[in-house]
Amino acid sequence: MAEAKAHPEEALPFERLAIIGIGLIGSSIALAARRFALARRVVLFDISDEVRREARALGLGDEIASSFAESVDGADAVIICVPVGACGAVVAEIAPHLQQNAIVTDVGSVKGAVIKAVREHLPAHARFVPAHPVAGTENSGPAAGFPSLFVNRWCILTPPNGGDEDATARVRAFWEGMGANVELMSADHHDLVLAVTSHLPHLIAYNIVGTADDLQSVTQSEVIKFSAGGFRDFTRIAASDPTMWRDVFLHNKEAVLEVLARFNEDLSALARAIRWGEGDKLFELFSRTRTIRRGIVNQGQETAEPDFGRRKV
Ligand code: NAP
Repeated sequence: MAEAKAHPEEALPFERLAIIGIGLIGSSIALAARRFALARRVVLFDISDEVRREARALGLGDEIASSFAESVDGADAVIICVPVGACGAVVAEIAPHLQQNAIVTDVGSVKGAVIKAVREHLPAHARFVPAHPVAGTENSGPAAGFPSLFVNRWCILTPPNGGDEDATARVRAFWEGMGANVELMSADHHDLVLAVTSHLPHLIAYNIVGTADDLQSVTQSEVIKFSAGGFRDFTRIAASDPTMWRDVFLHNKEAVLEVLARFNEDLSALARAIRWGEGDKLFELFSRTRTIRRGIVNQGQETAEPDFGRRKV
C-alpha cells in the first residue's frame, strides 16, 4: 500500500499552490497538501461566496482568495477542481494572471474535452498537465473533504506527447506525496477506460434508482423500507453530485455511448438466457464477476468485509 509521508521543506513539489473550486476534491487536496507538507502556501478560491465563507470557517488552506486573479497571483501551480464543463471558463479567467512557467493541472473525470477547453485559453507561458484522481465519495462541497482521500488510490495523468516533462514530474510528485499511485496514459484511452469503470456504473445507478422511483406498483415508502443491499448500494452511487455527473456525460459522450451500446447487447443476452432457462450461462457469468470483485479486494482497492463493513455493531 502506498504511504504518504510529509515532504522535507527543500523538496516541496510546489511553493504557492492555488486550488480553484472548493468542493470534495478541492478541499481534500487542500487538507492533504497541508498534512503531507506539499506546498509552502495553499490559496483557495471558489466562485460561490457561500462556499468561500464555509471554507474560511473550516480553516482550509492558508488563505481564501476573493477573486480568480488574486488566487493565482504568484502561484507556481494551479489545480482546477471544478465540474468539467466549467474548466474552460476558469482558465479564461485566470489566463491573464498566470505567472511565467506556472503549472496548471486539473482533476476532471473526463480528459479529452477538458484538454480541448483548457487549450483554447491557456497562455503559451503556462504548462498544462491534465490529471484525474480516481478517488471520491458521493458527497460534495467543502465540508466533504478529508486528507486521506487519495491514499492508495490511482491518479491518472494524460500529458500529451511532447508535454513538459518537468511539470509532469512535479505533478506526479505532488500526487504521490498525497499517497496516490500515479499512471500515465493517453486522454482517449483514459476516457474509454473510465467510461467502463466509472461513468457507465453511475449511469446504471441513476437509471435503476430512477426506475424504482417511477414504478407505480410499489410505493416509494416500500422502496426505501425494503431496500436490500443491491438497491441500497445503487442509491449511494446515485446520490453523487448532479452537476458533476451531468458534465461528465455531456463531455464524454462518444465513449459513454460506445460502452452503453455494448452494455445493452450484453443485457439483451442476459434477458435471453433467463427467458430460455440457460442457467449455465448465468452461472458462468456470475462466477466470472465474482472473481473480478475478489481481484479488486486483493489489490487493496476495496474492503474485504461483508456488506462493505457496514454491519459493525
Ligand atoms: P463539488 O464538490 O461539487 O465542488 C465543485 C466546486 O466548484 C463547487 O464549490 C462549485 O461551486 C465550484 N465551481 C463551479 N463552477 C465554478 C467556476 N466556474 N469557478 C470556480 N468555482 C466553481 O465537486 P467535486 O466532487 O469536488 O468535483 C470537482 C472535479 O473533480 C470535477 O471535475 C469532477 O469531475 C472531479 N472528480 C470528482 C470526483 C468525485 O468523486 N466527486 C472524483 C474524481 C474527480 P457551486 O457549488 O457554487 O457550483
